[in-house]
Amino acid sequence: MLRLLLFLASIVLAAQYAAGLVTPSLASAPRDGITAAGALVQAFGAHDDRLVFQGTPQYKKLNGDYLSTFNSELEPVLIFLPSTSADVAKFVKCVQPLVGLGLVYIAVRGGGQQPTPACNNVAQGVTVDLRNMAGITVNPTANSVTLEVEAGVRWGTVYQILQPLGLGLGVAGGRSNTNGVGGLVLSGGLSFFSSRDGFITDNVISFEVVLASGQVVTADPWTNADLYKAMRGGGNNFGIMTKVTMRTFQQGSLYGGSGFYPPQSFPSQVDAIVSELNSPTTSETHLMVSVAYSKRFEAFGGTVGLNQVYYTAPTAEPPQILEPFTDVQPQFDVLNSMRNMTLIDAANELTTPNTNDQRVAYMNLHVKMGSATLKSASDIYLAALYRFSLRKTSNNDGNGLGLGPSNGPIMSVLLVAWWDNPGDDGLVLGTGKSILEQIRSEASARGTLIPFIYMDYAFNDQDVIGSYGSGNKKFLQTVSKSGIF
Ligand SMILES: Cc1cc2nc3c(=O)[nH]c(=O)nc-3n(C[C@H](O)[C@H](O)[C@H](O)COP(=O)(O)OP(=O)(O)OC[C@H]3O[C@@H](n4cnc5c(N)ncnc54)[C@H](O)[C@@H]3O)c2cc1C
Repeated sequence: MLRLLLFLASIVLAAQYAAGLVTPSLASAPRDGITAAGALVQAFGAHDDRLVFQGTPQYKKLNGDYLSTFNSELEPVLIFLPSTSADVAKFVKCVQPLVGLGLVYIAVRGGGQQPTPACNNVAQGVTVDLRNMAGITVNPTANSVTLEVEAGVRWGTVYQILQPLGLGLGVAGGRSNTNGVGGLVLSGGLSFFSSRDGFITDNVISFEVVLASGQVVTADPWTNADLYKAMRGGGNNFGIMTKVTMRTFQQGSLYGGSGFYPPQSFPSQVDAIVSELNSPTTSETHLMVSVAYSKRFEAFGGTVGLNQVYYTAPTAEPPQILEPFTDVQPQFDVLNSMRNMTLIDAANELTTPNTNDQRVAYMNLHVKMGSATLKSASDIYLAALYRFSLRKTSNNDGNGLGLGPSNGPIMSVLLVAWWDNPGDDGLVLGTGKSILEQIRSEASARGTLIPFIYMDYAFNDQDVIGSYGSGNKKFLQTVSKSGIF
């Protein structure tokens, strides 16, 4: 399936090259994972179950557990499976000298859901797989409830913990149950509540992070405030995040779902979303409008319009504000899933598990809101439109993304491609890049191009950190001075 979305997004390479602070090519990556593995064996012992070596069934299982084969095809010498922040600290102290000398690369993996090649795994290096750091603590205080979530948790587990508590609690997290917590809180992160609550990272109260020194520190608005700011959008360039504390909010049911329709109606959907964004009547909507090519729709020409729209306040009736998107006619009624739903249901509907047999590529850019650019993007290919709020980006001295309220509202243009034959890589990626370039030129000519690239939806030749602006890049480089990250 090939889908073009207009959306806020980005890409990250393996841990140390993620933010363009260090940008080696994959071909020149150092190959001394074996020495690093030796150092880890000395530190932890040869039979320690935190060390998983190539050639074992467990390694095969773990290394196959990525969203995209672009990442599971990479083979680290060893996978490190920490259970505590002390494990992570010991690991970092052990590999730091080798990484610092540029002899080996490490990668950090949360949920493995980011498709960017080499962002979460590394050939012949060492990959830290955080899945065993799975603790969640709910902390009620007099006025609010906060959540402490360890770095290996996926958002679906967070929603499962909140729902049975019967407290009517929500949290700004991933829109898919299988998305990892780590990737999203560090990249910015888009949630069902982004129009109302900003990026996922704008809802972070504090981080626990292991620095290059092996020191475990807290980063919040009062302690290591620069680190706190940089981590909220700067990705994996500052350390290994081991725990995040999030704010929660009162949240009842949501109304929304998916609706499919013939692509002829797509231009009217562009007009509808632009109109809603230009004169927002509520911050409770979350709107994604796409046009996609999929084999599933071959009988109808293969191209289909797809609206994934949500109203995030409880409502007894289908909300009027969604009608331009839910009532589009004609549509494939049998596929319409609009309904009242819980946060888990909503995230379940958008869940894509790691299957180890799919090749996935995301690429993105951003434009100012306006029908002309967006329609020309959809004319160029398949498009989806998405809305989010920048109001919260200035909270707590802003985040590391370099975006502020004065930039908004903007649209993210996201190209998503899923395919299974490696022989098609050149064709699919070449076509995707060419489409994105055409949209970029078109938007640039209209004066509607925004430099920002979103980390989670970028391909690995996109300069994410550079797109945050030179001042912000310099700030992130200063905070990331620690050596190995
Ligand atoms: C079906 C689907 C739905 C999606 N929905 C959304 C969505 O709703 N909103 C959105 O914004 N994106 C979404 N994405 C994109 C995806 O959620 C992001 O790419 C996210 O980064 C994945 O998180 P993860 O922990 O699984 O990341 P991984 O793939 O494990 O890692 C992503 C990056 O984060 C780094 N990282 C992860 N954990 C840590 C840590 N603890 N410390 C340091 N670095 C770390 C990794 O090194 C890597 O560079 C979706 C993707 C898919 C496939």
